[in-house]
Amino acid sequence: MRKLDLRTGKPVWLSYRSPRIPEESLESSITTDVLVVGMGISGAMTADLLSQAGHTVVMIDRRGASLGSTPATTALVQHEIDVPLARLRHAIGAEKATRAWRRSRLAVANLRDRIAELDISCRMSDRPTLYLAGNVLRGKALRGEAELRAAAGLSARYLTASELRSGFGLEREGAILSTGNLALDPVKLTAGLLDRAKARGARLFAPEEAVDIRYRRSSVDVHTRSGYVISAGHVVLATGYELMDMVDDDRHEIISTWAIATRRQPKQALWPSEALIWEASDPYLYLRTTHDGRVICGGEDEDFQDEARRDALIKEKTERIVGKLAKLLPAIDPTPEFAWAGSFGNTGTGLPLIGPVPGKPRILVLMGYGGNGITFSRIAAELIDTTLAGGEDADADLFAL
Ligand SMILES: Cc1cc2nc3c(=O)[nH]c(=O)nc-3n(C[C@H](O)[C@H](O)[C@H](O)COP(=O)(O)OP(=O)(O)OC[C@H]3O[C@@H](n4cnc5c(N)ncnc54)[C@H](O)[C@@H]3O)c2cc1C
Repeated sequence: MRKLDLRTGKPVWLSYRSPRIPEESLESSITTDVLVVGMGISGAMTADLLSQAGHTVVMIDRRGASLGSTPATTALVQHEIDVPLARLRHAIGAEKATRAWRRSRLAVANLRDRIAELDISCRMSDRPTLYLAGNVLRGKALRGEAELRAAAGLSARYLTASELRSGFGLEREGAILSTGNLALDPVKLTAGLLDRAKARGARLFAPEEAVDIRYRRSSVDVHTRSGYVISAGHVVLATGYELMDMVDDDRHEIISTWAIATRRQPKQALWPSEALIWEASDPYLYLRTTHDGRVICGGEDEDFQDEARRDALIKEKTERIVGKLAKLLPAIDPTPEFAWAGSFGNTGTGLPLIGPVPGKPRILVLMGYGGNGITFSRIAAELIDTTLAGGEDADADLFAL
């Protein structure tokens, strides 16, 4: 089983108090309708929907709830896929690309509704997003991208340099303004979802590791580190970027990224509506505020996985992110109070891979969800919920392994 050093440094979320959801120790072999491997934000969203649908759910995690990549996320929950709509149309065709973008928008809306319905306190707030002109898209191309998005029914409006300056105080040649995205605390959200799943009977075991999977005709036997067997009708591998060796797909790669959080800023130093901001650049910069006025800023992605190299770069990448942040927002104090690095999975299309493992329909996975991991985790939870109910999600083909 692959084990990665998923993150290094201190993510800001670990400085806020989150409820601890009690976990049990596995002390015998058990059977269940569904075993979810992984108690990060993806496993939590899946367990929430599956337990709501009436399945018996067991979860295991080799570390514990929210101890993998989940606390490393900067948690800009956006429908905008990393690959612009114009480029995705070119890569997979206009119909599929439009459907992927629309599904992404629907997933953010569904997530917002679910959090409200369950009354989970995770400091969720609605945020517009600014996608700033950069070396990937600028000028006519950026304006064209806004028009394509708007024509697909997605919220998107092109802002000229002067509109951007007067509306948001930012200096760039243009931007796309969209609405309907979210900022939230990912650790609190994960705890809230696990709590609700637990109240419906889900059982959470940690630390407990899946070390071997044996596929049978009518069940899957997952052998654990402590020597027991969990026999499940279906297994969901919500193992984040630590894919099980049995799942291989050459469309997927692991890359490295860096983030910082500043000290609390006075309200007047922040920008109007505290929009989520990201750049149409490579490498890109993305930022948001927290409920208490910190600015979280990340980016500087590099196409390698080597964790030692990633960690050795924290100081240099922090300086670079701080420099870019200071240039973009001269009114804030960009001194970092938190700095961290993490790995994440990516695909060339920016779309995740979700669904049954070919030839092993009782095992469902999600992988390759990069900068929009949280939105894609919600799509995965919905797809898996529909599959286990015997249906077929209308967009399953977009994400199939
Ligand atoms: C710096 C950074 C910034 C990011 N910013 C954003 C952002 O702004 N917006 C966004 O949407 N996404 C963002 N992401 C991506 C986001 O963090 C991920 O999509 C998300 O955290 C993945 O959650 P997960 O539950 O799938 O994985 P994890 O949180 O890693 O959970 C997987 C769990 O599986 C467990 N596990 C693995 N293998 C086994 C096994 N064999 N047995 C038992 N347990 C196992 C692990 O211990 C882990 O706890 C960012 C990522 C990073 C690193």
